Amino acid sequence: MSRDFCNKCGECCRRIAVDFENRLIFFDGIQPLTQEFEQLLTPVDKTNNITFCSCNYLKGKLCTNKNKPQVCINYPSSPFAYLPEGCGFYGETFSKLEKVKQQVRKLKEEILHYETMMVQDKSVQKIIDHHKAIINKYKLYGSDDW
Ligand code: SF4
Ligand code: SF4
Repeated sequence: MSRDFCNKCGECCRRIAVDFENRLIFFDGIQPLTQEFEQLLTPVDKTNNITFCSCNYLKGKLCTNKNKPQVCINYPSSPFAYLPEGCGFYGETFSKLEKVKQQVRKLKEEILHYETMMVQDKSVQKIIDHHKAIINKYKLYGSDDW
């Protein structure tokens, strides 16, 4: 993945949203909170069930962790990455997200097409189920409304 868009502002490591109760991080998409990642974090404030944390390895604007977790190495690879304001990856991530949304919309159109055919055919049902499974993969990110 290209890292060219990073302007080294350090903001993505300053305020990481964490749901400790459900052990989730809102970082490179919604991901499980691992123990490895948890030990990097210092809570700074809390809104409802989300705690915003800064990383102990952030010094000024720079990461000083020579053994950073894979999730940090990958970030922001996901179309669902949570980007702070001013992040240089905003344009690229927006365009990745639009592609996923388009794919989901196309699957929904196909489902509608198959359902209106009113064909009681197992192979058609299999296609519909397959499409629905893909759409459901993105449910957490709001795919029902795309
Ligand atoms: S917020 Fe974006 S631009 Fe800033 S350091 Fe993180 S990845 Fe780079
Ligand atoms: S280890 Fe480095 S890249 Fe990962 S959250 Fe901490 S400061 Fe950011």
